[in-house]
Amino acid sequence: MKAHDGMYIDGAWRPAAGRDVIEVVNPADEQVIATVPAGTAEDVAAAVRAARAALPGWAAAPPAERAARLAALRDVLAARKDEIAETVTAELGSPPAFSQAVHASVPIAVAGSYADLAATYAFEEKVGNSTVFHEPVGVVGAITPWNYPLHQIVAKVAPALAAGCTVVLKPAEDTPLTAQLFAEAVDEAGIPAGVVNLVTGLGPVAGQALAEHPDVDLVSFTGSTAVGKRIGAAAGAAVKRVALELGGKSANVILPSADLAKAVNVGVANVMSNSGQTCSAWTRMLVHRDRYDEAVRLAAAAAAKYGDRIGPLVNAKQLQRVRGYIDQGVAEGARLVAGGPEAPRERGYFVSPTVLADVTPDMTVAQEEIFGPVLSVLRYDDEDDALRIANGTVYGLAGAVWAGDEAEAVAFARRMDTGQVDINGGRFNPLAPFGGYKQSGVGRELGRHGLAEYLQTKSLQF
Ligand code: NAP
Ligand code: MG
Repeated sequence: MKAHDGMYIDGAWRPAAGRDVIEVVNPADEQVIATVPAGTAEDVAAAVRAARAALPGWAAAPPAERAARLAALRDVLAARKDEIAETVTAELGSPPAFSQAVHASVPIAVAGSYADLAATYAFEEKVGNSTVFHEPVGVVGAITPWNYPLHQIVAKVAPALAAGCTVVLKPAEDTPLTAQLFAEAVDEAGIPAGVVNLVTGLGPVAGQALAEHPDVDLVSFTGSTAVGKRIGAAAGAAVKRVALELGGKSANVILPSADLAKAVNVGVANVMSNSGQTCSAWTRMLVHRDRYDEAVRLAAAAAAKYGDRIGPLVNAKQLQRVRGYIDQGVAEGARLVAGGPEAPRERGYFVSPTVLADVTPDMTVAQEEIFGPVLSVLRYDDEDDALRIANGTVYGLAGAVWAGDEAEAVAFARRMDTGQVDINGGRFNPLAPFGGYKQSGVGRELGRHGLAEYLQTKSLQF
């Protein structure tokens, strides 16, 4: 695949400071498809300097001008949609149809939503005898994961640009080609030099240098809870703004009045899509004891039907990790009713869609984020029991509730400690705030709440 051998800094592709490279691997066949430079603290420093230099001009640009550039970015992403989908498939392994429908499409909608918001947002308001200005926070360090490689970039960069911030992006080492395509799109959209800068590299090197750089005003991170805690601690020590979008262990609560077959089928598809590598996936299905056996049968059948349509996991490390969790679930007493730890193919990092039944709330597979195509089905006695189980993890990112009556589902959802709940299979909304309660994170992405993360207020009294 086509790859740049430099960093996109101050509006041009520039040679990296060092010579180390990252090999990009296609997880479906384990072949190296490209190499990109592994950035160092020196590259990060150059990118932060460029972002700082570009800040006054971009912050002062009229919101209508920022909106026009974001609209142009949306249009470039739309024009290059096929290329983006092919690149995501090559480096993440996502099936082509899913790359088109989700990985390449959602970022177009999100970029468009911030073009609209930049044009319409009230960056100035009156509060009694004060005028309040909503000003950009400054230079943003954006650190993104590989599971939705373009979405997670756009969900940070687009609101940052709408707010008037400038950005240094450090994408995941597994998916740098999609990030390079994004930088090309930024360039093509006429976004001024230095407003968006890209440094590819390893987390503990380039990522850490960016998170700890004293001239970065806000660190926005999406990824594992372990790394998120360190980034939050470093930001706290530096009195720096931070946004963390971390893991999840979301509950899919099927109340007794629900359409069981629909709830189970949609629930299984939710967990298996993107090979289970979705932080908001409903990885715990909660079913009333009277309908439990039927739900397990339906879930096993749905997982088996999913079969070959599933893509690989992103890398060998994730494969080992997910297999380890399946083994541990069985060792702790769960019953395997679909899939399993065995490799379904000779090449590629594949795991079969897996369903574990008889999972109890204290088991490791019911508590920890697996990040693979593994569903746990748990039994509850009554609604209070279901709520205790649903809320009984350190996470609170998303969830689902199914009931015969919408009001009944809403009443339950209101008692859940989580940032998003889909009612009876409600659709993804790119304008709704996304983010976690508890250890799932700090801050919100998407829509106007996502924009507010990149703004700070200044009040003038008259
Ligand atoms: P990760 O290490 O947290 O990666 C996220 C991003 O942070 C990547 O760009 C990574 O760079 C970077 N990074 C890593 N160490 C860093 C450090 N010390 N300082 C600054 N940046 C750093 O996550 P992962 O290793 O890819 O995945 C591990 C687990 O995290 C998964 O199994 C899953 O449970 C969870 N995860 C959650 C999400 C989510 O959306 N909430 C997304 C991805 C993963 P590198 O790519 O070079 O490591
Ligand atoms: Mg990592």
